[in-house]
Amino acid sequence: MEKSSKVLLADDSAFMRKVLKDILEGIGFTNFIEAENGVEAIEKFNAEKPSLVMLDIIMPVKNGIDVLKEIGKKAQIIVVSAVGQDGMIEEAKTLGAVDYIIKPFDRAQVEEKIAAL
Ligand SMILES: [Mg+2]
Repeated sequence: MEKSSKVLLADDSAFMRKVLKDILEGIGFTNFIEAENGVEAIEKFNAEKPSLVMLDIIMPVKNGIDVLKEIGKKAQIIVVSAVGQDGMIEEAKTLGAVDYIIKPFDRAQVEEKIAAL
């Protein structure tokens, strides 16, 4: 993926958005937009057409599964969630997520997933 690609960071935790942004900046990405709930994620996705979405599952208003139902097939989406049950991972992938990172994660795991895109 081009390092100039736009990345949407969708997570209700500002701290988690910052952690992900720092990791992605560390591997050269520069173009970020952020959303703090599922409705905002869908709106920003439709308005700004990011190439990559880092998507939380547990978020207010609409959760990450609801977001995947709307945009899952339209972008490269990596779910980043504390919910690690096989059933959830399976559902996310069925809805279009290309990969799934379980919180807490380390920097190397995220770098590896991005490199694999
Ligand atoms: Mg959350």
